[in-house]
Amino acid sequence: MSDDKQPMGQTRIHKTGTQQPAPHLASYEQAAAQFRWDDAANLLDGLPGGAGLNIAYEAVDRHLAHGRGDKTALRWLGRNGERRELSYAGLAQASNRFANALHSLGVQPGEGVFVLMGRLPELYVALLGALKARCVVTPLFSAFGPEPIATRAEMGDARVLVTTPELYLRKVQGLRQRLPGLRHVIVVGEAPAGDASLHSWAALVDAANPDYAIAPTDPESVSLLHFTSGTTGKPKGAMHVHAAVLAHAVTGRYALDLHDDDVFWCTADPGWVTGTSYGIIAPLVCGVTNVVVEAEFDAQSWYGVLASERVTVWYTAPTAIRMMMKLGAAALQGYDLSALRFMASVGEPLNPEAVLWGQQAFGLPFHDNWWQTETGGIMIANYAAMDIKPGSMGKPLPGITAAIVQRDSSGLRLIDSPDTDGELALKTPWPSMMRGYLHEDERYRKCFVDGWYLTGDLARRDADGYYWFVGRADDVIKSSGHLIGPFEVESALLEHPAVAEAGVIGIPDPMAGEVVKAFVALKPGFAPDEALRNELLGHARKRLGAAVAPKQIEFRNNLPKTRSGKIMRRLLKARELGLPEGDLSTLESDEK
Ligand code: ATP
Ligand code: MG
Repeated sequence: MSDDKQPMGQTRIHKTGTQQPAPHLASYEQAAAQFRWDDAANLLDGLPGGAGLNIAYEAVDRHLAHGRGDKTALRWLGRNGERRELSYAGLAQASNRFANALHSLGVQPGEGVFVLMGRLPELYVALLGALKARCVVTPLFSAFGPEPIATRAEMGDARVLVTTPELYLRKVQGLRQRLPGLRHVIVVGEAPAGDASLHSWAALVDAANPDYAIAPTDPESVSLLHFTSGTTGKPKGAMHVHAAVLAHAVTGRYALDLHDDDVFWCTADPGWVTGTSYGIIAPLVCGVTNVVVEAEFDAQSWYGVLASERVTVWYTAPTAIRMMMKLGAAALQGYDLSALRFMASVGEPLNPEAVLWGQQAFGLPFHDNWWQTETGGIMIANYAAMDIKPGSMGKPLPGITAAIVQRDSSGLRLIDSPDTDGELALKTPWPSMMRGYLHEDERYRKCFVDGWYLTGDLARRDADGYYWFVGRADDVIKSSGHLIGPFEVESALLEHPAVAEAGVIGIPDPMAGEVVKAFVALKPGFAPDEALRNELLGHARKRLGAAVAPKQIEFRNNLPKTRSGKIMRRLLKARELGLPEGDLSTLESDEK
């Protein structure tokens, strides 16, 4: 990093000692020193009779054995105001029916079950039922077009697809020739006539036996296949195993501070790993009430959900937070958010400005945490009982050893000095670590060096042990001998009252190697004119120093993002330089 930048992390948000309920992680230092994954295993029950470990049993069935069968597991809020509640007992029966339905179709353990639908209750039932049947489950984002569906289903060898009649007719029917391995399609609603491989959910699943005994499950057997977000290139298929559920039990408690009485809402779609690990598995394993909202983002209706459902713990993402900031804190007025006690964010770097805005608007800070599809669960986090340094991802989960490293020809060099940029690495193993990239063994092997998993993200650790995201290794800008992380530049721009979003890239420069260029979307009421451009350039220079500040700013109505809400810097760059745009299967909003 350059010497003339303003260091981040001057601010701290202190927590009081009187939080209710008392945080699971009362002392980070103590837990980090004492934690053993083997000890934590007592958070789980295991299959009866020592028959292994199955995610769905831990998430659902065991709560019945502990007298929690009547408790609400899922509270579903439909797009048209409908409500449906499923108790743990109801979810156990429904997922049993689905597992029996798979057996009746002759589906074998290890075979691929894909789910393509909006956030309907059946998605949750199918995912858990397929895990009970020991199939490999892949939830796909319902807004995918036919091509991304086909490539993923081909790659993952889908045997069964669960979808809706509309999605089937619009997106899947035309792909059947290409997917000869896809033997059965279960549709939630009336099955289109004339095809014996199409089954209606009502006839097949609702009619199935509600009793099911999960067969012995090897904790190392594959449970979920998750595709990455495609932010840096073609999505990879990360394979996870049933043993991962221990990481979900631990992080649900430590990183999200879930307690028995919590009403939890994770806003991510299960088509992305966050929406499965934390939108389904972790909250259920922790036995809380999990709110599922079918509708897409809308700030006002989200505030309505937080208030009416008395959500206590909320897990969301920087894009959504930035959109709420764009509307302003006044939009929160009139909503009773007194139940809310913990807010967390993941998916992209959370700008310090956004953490502080949380404090101002909700009276609570957002707790940023970091992880990847590959890590299966939260790895670095800001914990309930720990001071927050806005802009930092926090500290490694107890049980996880993180390091800042540099690779060279002789292997890895661990960087001990604080505030030094390097690649973020995690010591292997941990329970939710991916066990492979589907059909990409070589690429998988390359992620591991000397017992460390290399994340591909650059970060630094400060003297207090907090980790700071610098940028993805691919996105880092090299300018006149400086290494510039786009996050820092974007965060500085975001401090300006006119800026709603910023995406920063490096563009070639004959003198400096690369110079910084920023793409900026403005808040309502600000005009994208020369005066504002100069003001922003000046603001950035003052905040970051001339060496790091952008040399060019281009205004955009919005920035290209993945469907999971991440700014696609590689696309900004490809378009700027007239290079091939690469895989766009996860691109959502787009404006050239
Ligand atoms: P692909 O690997 O296909 O390019 P992706 O990396 O965006 O896509 P995910 O696994 O969904 O796919 O995202 C993980 C990445 O998201 C991390 O490696 C990191 O770059 C970014 N990320 C997630 N959480 C945070 C965070 N709290 N702060 C900074 N970056 C984050
Ligand atoms: Mg990635």
